[in-house]
This record gives sequence, structure tokens and C-alpha cells, in this order.
Amino acid sequence: MTDIIKLLPDHVANQIAAGEVVQRPASVVKELLENAVDAGATHIKLIVKNAGKTLIQVIDDGNGMSDTDARLSFERHATSKISSANDLFGLHTKGFRGEALASIAAIAHVELKTRTEDEEVGTSIEIEGSALKSQEVAATLKGTSIAVKNLFFNIPARRNFLKSDSVELRHIIDEFHRVAMAHERISFVMYNNDGELFNLPESNKRQRIVNIFGGKTNEKLVPVEEETEIVNIHGFIVKPEFAKKTKGEQFFFVNDRFIKHAYLNHAVTAAFDGLLPDRARASYFLYMHVDPKTIDINIHPTKTEVKFEDEHAVYTLMRAAVKHSLGQFNIAPVLDFDRDTSFDTPYSYKNKEAESPRVDVDRNFNPFDSEHKKHGSSFGGSPYQKKDATGWEQAFDGLENNRADKKSGFSHLQVETDQDAETIFEERESRGNSATGIEQSRSAATYQLHNKYLVSTIKSGMLIIDQHRAHQRILYEELLKNITVKESVSQQLLFPLRLDFNAAEIAIFAQLKESLENTGFVLDLSEENTVGISGIPSSIQESEVSIVLEQLLDDVQHEVPDAGFSQTDVLAKSMAKSMAVRPGESLNEASRDHLVNTLFACKEPNFSPFNKKTFITLTVDELDRKFSAH
Ligand code: ADP
Ligand code: MG
Repeated sequence: MTDIIKLLPDHVANQIAAGEVVQRPASVVKELLENAVDAGATHIKLIVKNAGKTLIQVIDDGNGMSDTDARLSFERHATSKISSANDLFGLHTKGFRGEALASIAAIAHVELKTRTEDEEVGTSIEIEGSALKSQEVAATLKGTSIAVKNLFFNIPARRNFLKSDSVELRHIIDEFHRVAMAHERISFVMYNNDGELFNLPESNKRQRIVNIFGGKTNEKLVPVEEETEIVNIHGFIVKPEFAKKTKGEQFFFVNDRFIKHAYLNHAVTAAFDGLLPDRARASYFLYMHVDPKTIDINIHPTKTEVKFEDEHAVYTLMRAAVKHSLGQFNIAPVLDFDRDTSFDTPYSYKNKEAESPRVDVDRNFNPFDSEHKKHGSSFGGSPYQKKDATGWEQAFDGLENNRADKKSGFSHLQVETDQDAETIFEERESRGNSATGIEQSRSAATYQLHNKYLVSTIKSGMLIIDQHRAHQRILYEELLKNITVKESVSQQLLFPLRLDFNAAEIAIFAQLKESLENTGFVLDLSEENTVGISGIPSSIQESEVSIVLEQLLDDVQHEVPDAGFSQTDVLAKSMAKSMAVRPGESLNEASRDHLVNTLFACKEPNFSPFNKKTFITLTVDELDRKFSAH
């Protein structure tokens, strides 16, 4: 047999390597920014067009490259940063693999312009898919400019896999933040489609964080400072009272490099133990400095994971450092989430109205007011539900509004008049749904199993409904309807809420404003870094607003661009997800019945909006068979 093994040509090898290094436009941004930092730049400018799909350009005023180096920099394993394996244990630079430029040049059109301090003219190079197109002498400023155009032009599968511009831009902004946060002495500017998104002047760490996350961040930060033999820790934690509900701003840096570290995150969370409100996450900006010999940053191609020599010690020190600063700044003893903390510190005076009121009041609830029965249902009062309502459902309306359970935003007042209950059961006869072929039998009672499933009898046997998924389906259809029909009911807030978000998040809210308002929100985005909320959908509680909105941001940022994707859909899915009654919530009889009936009034009752089964049936035949086997 003849030999069959060949060495891959360089451009193919580079393309394969590129798959590791460059997953999306944000990966290019990270590599180029880090190269600029390594080159000793003091001013770095990032320009992106169409979320980096058309252009990513980084301009720095660093050391620049000679014409030979400029050409060499695109070769694989070409680096000026290490020369022996030993150097790996004393890294002071971001890069060291010499792979980034070679990888990027393999899958894009790249234009490089660079000049060193002592040369009068610089070099300009054009490379497309690893092939050198031109190299010329060029007049250019000291430093380097690299423009990366048409990313993945020669790998259509990769290009098609990219997500929407808003998602890709979000990833780019994340990388930009991470590099900018680690290097506050360098000034960074970022433009997207010609608009300036961030302008971060040279500053200290606190100012840099505030410049990125908005002016109100300043008062939320508590410094952390701990110097030990093994690690120096400094930075800030966010006071527990400002903790975010779904995901916090969580940043670890080791030797000025952003890292993710689940174990250390656990250390910080442990230090916050008992101080965070339910479901909230700690936010932190913590910078560690260690001897480069004691870490291994080589374990992941994109290098966000780091291994510490003595992980356990770092864990303990981290937890102690955070605990110490929580104690030192008197956070720990005064924490009592039911108390109005604005009396504790002068900080919150400035923002008195921004504090979300901590007492939950159902403003619609007045058991003595028969009038309010006319307004909407507990599911959001959409006209849509009313349309399908049969006689018994109308009889039910009075009950729906008597919402007493503040937590679920769904459950109803336990007190029912005998008359109401009677009407329901009498008329509850053969309510069928053609889509499912399910017919409920006369006077079927609905039970709750483990606060998770609803069990009801049907003609052929038994129906078992997943309460969370079923409610998701109901809310989803209702929200979709509201967003398009624009007739939802809004509850006015006595004290408008003011929630803080960063510039990128505000931009997402601006995009979603109309749809959100159609669901019942009344938003004010006129103020920088703040969303003012004076009205909310009648189906959610004031205390749930930040959870719903944060979940929404998260979902919009990670949306998957499938064929049927639309922003309305993402919004409806996201809100249905966070508003739906959860497993573990106990539902009273009226709520149970209502959930079952509303589910079968849905267009597609069989599946949740996430394509999960909402119910299963168990027929008498199946039961018979089970018993006859034994
Ligand atoms: P690495 O950063 O791992 O060394 P890269 O492929 O990112 O590998 O870069 C290769 C080399 O090109 C670097 O080692 C550096 O010498 C040079 N280089 C890249 N970007 C710049 C820049 N912005 N300014 C000066 N030199 C640069
Ligand atoms: Mg590099």
C-alpha cells in the first residue's frame, strides 16, 4: 500500500486552528484588543460595523512592528512574547500562542498598517484567507491598525451560524468591557456603525467600572483589599441590597486577565451567605494578582479559565476578603431586607424614588368592591380570554380577580362563595377541545400532586398536567395576542420603579419598548442608564418586575436565530417563562380549575412554548392493563 499521510498545507491548518480561536466576531475583538494592550498602547480605539460581521478594526498607539515583523506576525506560532517553554511560567502578556493573527487572516480579509517609533514610514499589508495580497510602504501613525473585514467569508457554515446583530454586539461589548476593566490606565473608545458606544478615559479602577456600568454604580461599590503571600485581592463588591435577581455583574481578573472561575464564585457567594435576598446573585469586580509561576492559563484556547497552584488557599482567602469587607463596611449587621435601608446611609437619599417599595400590595384587590370584577383576569386581563369565555367561565371571573397570593401572581383568594363553586361544577360539562380531543367529564375535580402536577379526570381516564408548562403556554399565547392587538391592561404604579441598566441593556429596551408597552408596561427611557417604569402588566407583581426584565435581557441576548424567530416571540416566551407559576407553588381549587380550562382554550394546548409536553393522559385501558398484569 502506498503512503497516505500528508502534511496539511498551511492555509488549511490555519483554518482549522481558526475554528478554535475564532468562534465569533467577539473572539477577534478580544485578540486584537489584547495585542494592542501587549504592544504598550495608551489609547485604543475599537470600531465595529454590523456587530463585527462586516468590520472589526482596532487602532492603537503602541510599539508598532517593523516591516519584517509585520509580515511574520501572520505566520502560525509567530510571537514576540515568549521564546522558550520556560517563559510560559512567567507570562506578563495577554498573548503568547502566536496563533491569533494567523487564524484571523485564514478566515477574513485583513488590512494591517503599522509603524514603529524610530521608522519614518510604516508598512501596509493585505491578506485574504491566508494569502498575501500586497505589502507596501505606507505613511501611517506610530502604532498599529488592524482591520478585519468579512469574517468567515470562506466558511459559509460558520457565517450562517452567527446570531443576530444584537447578540453578536453584546458579545463584543462583553469582551471590550473585560479588557477595559483590566486596564484602566489605557483609554478605550468604541464605535458601532459610526456611533460612539463607550468613551473610557484613563482613570482608576473605580471610575472605570462606573464609566462602564453607569453613574449610579459608584454608590453601590464596597472596596475589597487583601494582601497575602499567595494572592493579592483588590476590587469591589456590590452591596447586597443592590444585588441583581437573575444574574449579577461577576468579574474576576487574574494578573489583569478576565477569568471565569466557578469555584471562586462559590467563595464569594459563600461570603455573602444570608445577606442576599432570595434568588439574588452577588455582583463583584475582583482583581487578583499572583506570581505567574503559580497559575496555568494554558488550559483553554480562549484562555478564560485559569488553574491556580493552590486553589483551596485562594478560595479561603477570597471568601475571607469578601467577608472582611462586608463586615468592615458595616454591611453585614445592618442587613435586614424588610427594613427601609434609606435611613442607614446617606447614599440612598439621592435615589429615594429609585428604591423599589418592598411591601407588596395588590392594588386591584378589594374584597368588598364588586366593581373590580369587571377588570381583566388574573392572567393579564386580556380581551382574548374573554372572547372564548363560556357561561361558566364568566361566572368564574369574580374569583379570578380576588388575587391574594402575592408570590405567584396567579393564585386566587381561598375564600369562595358556595354559589360560585356550584355554578362552576354544574356547568362544567363536556368541555372539549378539538385540538386535543380531550373531553373532561362532568364535575371533574382537579387535584394537585406534589405542588407540581394537576390531576383531573377525563372521559377516557386521567389527565396529568405540568402546572408550570401549562401556565407558560397560557401566558405565551396571551402575551403574543397582547403584543399584536395592543389591548392589554396596565396597572399604574403609585411609586414608579427606577431600575438601573448599562448602556447596552438600555439599547435593548429601546428596541423592545413598543412590544413591552403592548404587554402593559409603561416605560420611560429618557434618563441615562435608568429605566423608569410607571405601569406594569396587570398579571405581574411589582416585586417580580426586575426578575422579568432581567430574564428578558438575558433571553434577548442569547436568542437562537431559528427560522421562526421574531423579537415578539422571544419577548413572549421570556415573559411567559418568568411569570409562569413554578413547581412547588400550591394552587387552590379555583386556580387549578382555571389553569386547566384556560389551557384547553389555547390554540396549542399540547406543548409549552418551548415545545415541551404540557400534559399526559392515562387511560382506563392502560390502567386495566397495568392491573391485569399482576
Ligand atoms: P500572540 O499575541 O500570541 O503573540 P498574535 O498572533 O496575536 O500572537 O500576534 C503575533 C505577533 O504580532 C505578536 O507577538 C506581536 O509581536 C505582533 N503584534 C500583533 N498585534 C500587534 C500590535 N497591535 N502591535 C504590535 N505588535 C503586534
Ligand atoms: Mg495575540
